[in-house]
Amino acid sequence: MHTVTVLRRGALRLRGGHPWVFRSDLRDMGGAEPGAIVRVQDERGAFLGCAFHSSSELSLRLLDRGMIEDERAFFGERLRASIVRRAPLLATRDAARLVHGESDGLPGLLVDRFGDGLVIQSLCQAMDQREDMLVGMLVDLCGPRVVALRDDGSTRDHEGLERRKALVRGDDARVTYHEGSLEYRIDLLEDQKTGAYLDQADNHVHAGTLARGRALDLFTYHGGFGLQLALGAERVACVDIGESAAARTAENARANGLSNVEVHCANAFDLVRALEGEKARFDTIVIDPPAFAKRKSALDGARRGYKDLNLRAMRLLAPEGTLVTCSCSGKMTRALFEDMLVDAARDTGRRMVVQERRGAGPDHPVLLGVPETEYLKCFVLRAVD
Ligand code: SAH
Repeated sequence: MHTVTVLRRGALRLRGGHPWVFRSDLRDMGGAEPGAIVRVQDERGAFLGCAFHSSSELSLRLLDRGMIEDERAFFGERLRASIVRRAPLLATRDAARLVHGESDGLPGLLVDRFGDGLVIQSLCQAMDQREDMLVGMLVDLCGPRVVALRDDGSTRDHEGLERRKALVRGDDARVTYHEGSLEYRIDLLEDQKTGAYLDQADNHVHAGTLARGRALDLFTYHGGFGLQLALGAERVACVDIGESAAARTAENARANGLSNVEVHCANAFDLVRALEGEKARFDTIVIDPPAFAKRKSALDGARRGYKDLNLRAMRLLAPEGTLVTCSCSGKMTRALFEDMLVDAARDTGRRMVVQERRGAGPDHPVLLGVPETEYLKCFVLRAVD
């Protein structure tokens, strides 16, 4: 195993609990190949742990503060521990994220279970090199009917890795899974993200318990929120700009016997403006857009987009109406998001109560001290006058 020496700032970061070291904080690579596991030491030669090495800017991802003697045993144990950690969740549901990268001590690896299907996503050079081994281990641990590789995440571009996807077990990528009492059908190879937005699963079901009256679900995708809203509301309008998403929502509503769902294939920004013009009123509104700010430079524009939507949604709320509003942009921190909501509420002149500040479900754990692992915000607001 090669030894990589990190400069003071890199050593401080690792000792402070953050697993990443950037190239500018390395003294030398010690001849390590991209994707290798390396020993990491500080400038005085003190051992800091073992890490994945990458030729990208993000040079080191810490795996363990101790020595890794047997790679196979190490990864087998980390995978097993991640799955065991989620056993209480898996006792009540058939879909969950089984491995959430750094938070589970497996940097650059995501594993999602949807019913009898598994989706694996590798986001760094080292995980790519070990993907076959990991697939084999996951098959032994979970016994899935089908396994899809979704190595098509945009963060792979930073690692110089090509985007690709494939089925590596089974031959039919269509699976069925449940959220609460509802059933969803997805295609593990073709659908958005790794098939669906698992990080919102608890928020979907929770929003259903809050829903009443007339409801609106903006950015519905396949009805993740919308169909749950239909369980409590009289009527739900689900909105998505994508034709196939809108069609899927309608299909899922039918398959679940929900007759109070209408689907609109439209631009949510235009639609809320039109609804405002008509003086429409809703008792329950959900806003869950795609990430508007993937980079810091996009933050100002993103804030304007979020504010426009939230401001109009607040105006559309009937008295005592509920707004469930989300952001999955990591760069838009919780504090910035809340500040935007304050601003929007102020402009409407309405008094809004914060009922809940929520995030991703417990299968997408946030690693304390590693803000990059927290990206999803979900606020429940109520218009009190
Ligand atoms: N709320 C969903 C996930 C939404 S993902 C869930 O919880 O399952 C974001 C969705 O927004 C995508 O389906 C995308 O097609 C849609 N979208 C993107 N821009 C849009 C726009 N301007 N208006 C309406 N929908 C849009």
